[in-house]
Amino acid sequence: MSEAALIVDPNLRTYFVDAILPLPIPRLFTYRVPRELDNNISVGSRIVVPFGKTKLLTGIVAAVHENPPKKYEAKYLMDLLDEEPTVNSLQLRFFKWMADYYMCTIGEVLQAALPSGLKIDTTSLVQRNPYFREEEFVLSIEEQLVLEQLADDSTIESAKLAELVGQKYISKVLRSLVAKEAILVIDHVREKFTPKTKKYIKLDDEIAASETMIEEVVNNLEKKPKQLEVLMAYLRDVPLFENPEANTAGLARDELVNQGISASSIQTLIKNNVLSLFEKEVSRFPTVIKTKRQVTLEPEQEKAKTALLEWFEEKDIALLHGITGSGKTEIYIDLIRESINNGHQVLYLLPEIALTSQIVTRLQYVFGNEMGVFHSKFSANERVEVWQSLSKAEINLIVGVRSSVFLPFTDLGLVIIDEEHEPSFKQFDPAPRYHARDSGLMLASMHKAKTILGTATPSLESFFLAKSGLYGYVRLDKRYGESQLPALDTIDLSRAKKTKTIRGNFSEELISAIKDTLDDDQQVIVFQNRRGYAPFLSCDVCSWVPQCPHCDVSLTFHQYNRELRCHYCGFKTPMISTCGACGSHELKTVSFGTEQLEEEIKTYVPGFEVKRLDVDTAKGKTTHQRIINDFDSGKTKILVGTQMVAKGLDFANVGLVAIIDLDKMLRFPDFRSVERTFQLALQVAGRAGRSERKGKVLIQTYNPDQSIIYPILHQNYEDFYNAEIEERRLFNYPPYARLIRLTIRDFENQVAAQASMQLYQMLVAKLGEAMLLGPIIPVISKIRDRYLREVFLKINRKKDIKQIKAVVSQCLVELLSEKSFRKTSVIIDVDPI
Ligand code: ADP
Ligand code: ZN
Ligand code: ZN
Repeated sequence: MSEAALIVDPNLRTYFVDAILPLPIPRLFTYRVPRELDNNISVGSRIVVPFGKTKLLTGIVAAVHENPPKKYEAKYLMDLLDEEPTVNSLQLRFFKWMADYYMCTIGEVLQAALPSGLKIDTTSLVQRNPYFREEEFVLSIEEQLVLEQLADDSTIESAKLAELVGQKYISKVLRSLVAKEAILVIDHVREKFTPKTKKYIKLDDEIAASETMIEEVVNNLEKKPKQLEVLMAYLRDVPLFENPEANTAGLARDELVNQGISASSIQTLIKNNVLSLFEKEVSRFPTVIKTKRQVTLEPEQEKAKTALLEWFEEKDIALLHGITGSGKTEIYIDLIRESINNGHQVLYLLPEIALTSQIVTRLQYVFGNEMGVFHSKFSANERVEVWQSLSKAEINLIVGVRSSVFLPFTDLGLVIIDEEHEPSFKQFDPAPRYHARDSGLMLASMHKAKTILGTATPSLESFFLAKSGLYGYVRLDKRYGESQLPALDTIDLSRAKKTKTIRGNFSEELISAIKDTLDDDQQVIVFQNRRGYAPFLSCDVCSWVPQCPHCDVSLTFHQYNRELRCHYCGFKTPMISTCGACGSHELKTVSFGTEQLEEEIKTYVPGFEVKRLDVDTAKGKTTHQRIINDFDSGKTKILVGTQMVAKGLDFANVGLVAIIDLDKMLRFPDFRSVERTFQLALQVAGRAGRSERKGKVLIQTYNPDQSIIYPILHQNYEDFYNAEIEERRLFNYPPYARLIRLTIRDFENQVAAQASMQLYQMLVAKLGEAMLLGPIIPVISKIRDRYLREVFLKINRKKDIKQIKAVVSQCLVELLSEKSFRKTSVIIDVDPI
């Protein structure tokens, strides 16, 4: 250090940062910046900070300033992890909006936003205290064992130490050793992301720089043909003489080895300093070769595209209402290309279930490695790679699921939200309980980007806003090419019951239609809505049904591993054979899930390959894909499944789609059940007849005359919309009102009841009775040992929602600070689905 630096500058400033920490605490935390970091710290950087007595957390710098906190002495931040900020200022603004809108903390948003690979893992390093005098203490066996491992002055990670002394938990031993000042425990911070590297070789720099030296080396290797071969292969692949830089890039070692070059000769050359070995960071994603695109838009598609662009002259959002198979994706591809050519980034949002490799492959052919895919099934490392590639502007198109809205975009030009009506765009748990469509719209507006909402069956909200003139609206009613919309028909189950032409869940009429389709060498999809269809056990003698001990639900029966499971808390128990109430052995499975349909169809239509696609069979990335590939290739003839078969898949040879039970979808106790039924029915129907042959859809129902049937059979969105929007208006539901759901939870039923009543009354006092609903006991009244109550707010669209949310927050703080509600918690869900 120079002399001058030692003189304290009287103008020296002391900097502080406000950090966002990944905690559900609604405020920022101030830390002092160590002098040596003064020049490097900036908004959006990741820092490591001490929290409480023992914890280290990674946070994000939200602000840098010179104001020490008033109420407490600021601790120093421990470390700065980034040279360049991880989070940009637009992202911070977006995170803040999300926290405000969805009534959670910005820390919770951060927790959801940062891929776990960008978070930090803390491990404790243990070291022996050099001043410790063992003879002055009486030590337990465990303590002695630990100290033995710490003989010299090295440090060992506590987990490793536990392993060495052969115990699972040693924190108690460590604590007592700390108390005796026998050891030192140091918190150690480790970045979780590990870049993938590959071994490269290059010619020694000095040799590479001179042709004469290269010649010399070649001459020296005259008698060592194998080594000479290595060198020659290297010189052949790396154009040293034309381009001296090429040596720096080197050559992947495996590339030579794969050509049959001896690995041990390479090793010898490295040892003799002719070659040097180095590691390079490489992508985890395979390189994709773009192919020249063959597609030219049809006149209808061209017209739709022009219409979208015209809307964008005056509006930022347009709804593309195009039937399945009308070629929306092809239109997106054109518009994505244009936006990228104009120097912008593009986000293409898809619901989780629709993000199949079919669509990814299609887009990759066009955009190759300019495109990043962001999927929840990716590993932490893969996700960090996508994040970083976008940060470094190596890619400018992201195709991804809802959490893609958190990625570090700097200049979005276009956001596409495909299947915008999909409920799975909404995050259910934990906070932030955000809707990716609505968040995507906000993100786009922050970037001044345009948004396309694409769907065959618009959500009521989006269609309403398009009709009211807020969004542009483009319609596409013709399927691409020769493919036609399928013909839909109903099968009357009550008549089938009466005439005894029903077997299990299948009417004879359906079975023979399935047979005909298969005989005609076409494939069949059998669809069963997931909701409310878990099979359970029941006693034939007394009707007893096994329940989850922690939740107010029946246990679900899983044929596959003969288990009973709770879908709410994960509780599981082996299959039982005795009734818990009367002791009989007459237990039978009731209701039916996809699993049972699969069994049935195998007996009714023997001799054909059947596969099932639902959450249970599609656990892994690859199994899911295999099931789809097998059906695509025609190996599987019948595919039984839940919504998963309904979305985004494009099979050429499906002749028949069967909807097993429409009524149960409609009966689901939710104001959206009619909307969902209509959408699902049309989505599944869209899987039929995607080639020249007209497909068929058969819908089983006990009531073919109910009003929803007509718009479904005629695939008429307006008829459905006009009827349904009237209902929503009458009962003041979205889109006429906004909803906020407050779920009050407590381990005591009584306390939950009391807290919800009190909350309701507080809210009524401040907001008036008209806006409030409840408190009610939800259909499932207990989850994970906690009793539930719900209070709803129905807020007219014209009201000041911000102010109402502030009132709600205030009431909640007041309620939860009461002593009797110490253990009560409240979940806030804004725009619940
Ligand atoms: P949507 O997204 O509206 O359901 P897709 O974009 O998936 O429709 O199109 C349906 C099928 O038609 C796809 O296989 C697609 O490749 C094909 N297709 C659509 N438009 C064209 C076109 N202009 N030229 C060639 N094939 C097209
Ligand atoms: Zn449970
Ligand atoms: Zn019984």
